[in-house]
Amino acid sequence: AKGAAMVTAVAYRLTEQARQIQQTMAEFRLSKAQLLEVKKRMRVEIERGLKKDSHKEATVKMLPTFVRSTPDGTENGDFLALDLGGTNFRVLLVKIRGGKKRSVEMHNKIYAIPIEVMQGTGEELFDHIVHCISDFLDYMGMKSARLPLGFTFSFPCHQTSLDAGILVTWTKGFKATDCEGEDVVELLRDAIKRKEEFELDVVAIVNDTVGTMMTCAYEEPTCEVGLIAGTGSNACYMEETKNIEIVDGTEGRMCVNMEWGAFGDNGCLDDIRTRYDQAVDENSLNEGKQRYEKMCSGMYLGEIVRQILIDLTKRGFLFRGQISETLKTRGIFETKFLSQIESDRLALLQVRAILQQLGLDSTCDDSIIVKEVCGTVSRRAAQICGAGMAAVVDKIRENRGMDHLDITVGVDGTLYKLHPHFSRIFQQTVKELAPKCDVNFLLSEDGSGKGAALITAVGCRQRELEAQ
Ligand code: BGC
Ligand code: MG
Repeated sequence: AKGAAMVTAVAYRLTEQARQIQQTMAEFRLSKAQLLEVKKRMRVEIERGLKKDSHKEATVKMLPTFVRSTPDGTENGDFLALDLGGTNFRVLLVKIRGGKKRSVEMHNKIYAIPIEVMQGTGEELFDHIVHCISDFLDYMGMKSARLPLGFTFSFPCHQTSLDAGILVTWTKGFKATDCEGEDVVELLRDAIKRKEEFELDVVAIVNDTVGTMMTCAYEEPTCEVGLIAGTGSNACYMEETKNIEIVDGTEGRMCVNMEWGAFGDNGCLDDIRTRYDQAVDENSLNEGKQRYEKMCSGMYLGEIVRQILIDLTKRGFLFRGQISETLKTRGIFETKFLSQIESDRLALLQVRAILQQLGLDSTCDDSIIVKEVCGTVSRRAAQICGAGMAAVVDKIRENRGMDHLDITVGVDGTLYKLHPHFSRIFQQTVKELAPKCDVNFLLSEDGSGKGAALITAVGCRQRELEAQ
């Protein structure tokens, strides 16, 4: 009888433990009503960003990009492109041939940006960038060409023209000094001058969302939205110029860089943010900022998972109650690990092997819990990201006074491309929350580089027209 009582006690403890774990997970499970609420709030913030009176305080900045049309196929020439702010820093040579036999040829090299440079002085950062360009030009044998350059700079910039962009704030892992409030194009031009080795003509500064939209629009003219679900999260779309009140003119459309990562910075998402989200925020380089991005992008999902695992371990539900040094380390769960852990093809034993690689000793039960935590966090990410997109496509539909809209969204980003479930859940959510829109998703091939070159080509053409 004593043995039976003990068995019952153990069983009770296990079910109680399972219940508590489920209770923790439940905070991340959003109902359709909650997701519709996220969509609605995004719409409110979009309007705030667009309106002159509220633009200054608005969290979703809705920044004008001075890109007034998608490509028309006549773009032509050789361009340099830089891609800074994603998983890799790259320098590219892009050869675009327009007309009947359109083609785009690209050469690129990836360069590392050491963390000391990302978080050092602005001058060091830009000197490093120019050093990489110099290496690339040597490698291509093109030092004397004075090429036009498009700079994909994946951070919020206040643009007053195609080739001027004042950095509003650093995001993600960057924090170089003396850059916020400065024109990034000037910082680049100054660094090129300091080097005294080559000349370049910086024609355009481009957000990665805009580059992605343009690249996809080159193949598919119905593409008028760009999405990045990668290290960071953001979207852009073609808005009616008359609605962008801080831009003069009422004709036609202009692409707006939404900077939706900052959605929630005024507290409007506090009811769905958990204490784990708050812990991630407090641990970050930019506390209080980019709250939506911190719930749905690659750089932070692993951090949310880590915070939950720490808590479950403290409560004795995981890793025999032992918090290892690994678990205390920021950034251990990169997108590629989460993607592996959540892969359906992976047996639990393999999940344990991955955890082992990270230095986490797990039991079979541990690995089941870890996998469920990862799945719950990434599902919420895909859903709230989908709710944001639903707000965007419905806004475009209303702009055009249509009952039904067919539209294409160009997409890039490691989370979207690598994760086994993110894209599917994201698409399902958009469909459910914006039933009057038929949204087609197109993956961009190398959106940042190609897109920057396409925008530079358009910029050069505009310049020639103005000079006439
Ligand atoms: C930046 C955006 C960028 C996004 C995706 C965010 O952190 O603020 O400008 O588009 O990341 O790279
Ligand atoms: Mg990128």
